[in-house]
Amino acid sequence: VLNQNIAELNGDINVSFEFFPPTSEAMENTLWQSIDHLKKLKPKFVSVTYGANSGTRDRTHGVIKDIKERTGLIAAPHLTCIDASKDELKQIALDYWNSGIKHIVALRGDIPEGGDRPHMYAADLVELLKSQASFDVSVAAYPEVHPEAKTAQADLLALKAKMDAGADRAITQFFFDIESYLRFRDRCAAIGIDQEVVPGILPVSNYKTLVKFSKLCNVKVPNWMHKMYEGTDDDPTTRNLIGASIAMDMVKVLGEEGVKDFHFYTLNRSELSYAICHTLGIRP
Ligand code: FAD
Repeated sequence: VLNQNIAELNGDINVSFEFFPPTSEAMENTLWQSIDHLKKLKPKFVSVTYGANSGTRDRTHGVIKDIKERTGLIAAPHLTCIDASKDELKQIALDYWNSGIKHIVALRGDIPEGGDRPHMYAADLVELLKSQASFDVSVAAYPEVHPEAKTAQADLLALKAKMDAGADRAITQFFFDIESYLRFRDRCAAIGIDQEVVPGILPVSNYKTLVKFSKLCNVKVPNWMHKMYEGTDDDPTTRNLIGASIAMDMVKVLGEEGVKDFHFYTLNRSELSYAICHTLGIRP
């Protein structure tokens, strides 16, 4: 193992990269630099998030269309169902299909504060999409349990419902405790989920923001990480190097556990994800 990278060990490795729609010209330049850099690694697909409740569907659609036209990559829009009626969702699905966009990341979306019980769950969206056309559908999974779930078992059953509705793969929430992911993968297999449960890898460059965000998402940030980032508040270069090193260790262990598909939360930056892929053996 020491002398082999994961690609040599496991055979074909698939990677995918997630981006968000830029809101300024400077951010748009960064996004395109990142896409141009990462496309060299021939990702299986790239995806673009959708800001629920804030009317960014058009921006997501615009970026997806541009990526498809400019790079020829498979570009998958995220789609949430919480703020749209079933008829609207059907129309969106048809529009995507007719413009050649056939992979969708299907989500429920977060309920706004004080909001009512949702009129749909992600499993209903998967069913709706599959009833419209033979979309390739990815869904979300939570190794450390979705914050709203009553129990871990209920959350696992919710994932099973999405898979039974026809989802083609699940992409996990980011995590740092590898054991959580591996145990979760076992529980998915035990409950009859045959589809790939792709780990979502977040290379961390802003530790302080991460800590806040992780609390909201119910993701454990282990104490050893806290120690590693200690004293780096004013030192982004060191933080980036630490983030890369942690993620490189993670993908190596996951690879040794047989993981062949990795999804990267790029936050629209390419350097860390590119370097981590390089260590997996993925080269232009
Ligand atoms: P669901 O699978 O519907 O589950 C939501 C909650 O409801 C869970 O607690 C589940 O256990 C529970 N549940 C499910 N079915 C039932 C039922 N029948 N009865 C009772 N409870 C049920 N958000 C965005 O706004 N935009 C994005 O682009 C985006 N991209 C994401 C990408 C990934 C890979 C991930 C992991 C998350 C993403 N999110 C995004 C966040 C996501 O929208 C939130 O986590 C949301 O709260 C749940 O979405 P879901 O699709 O997992 O919902």
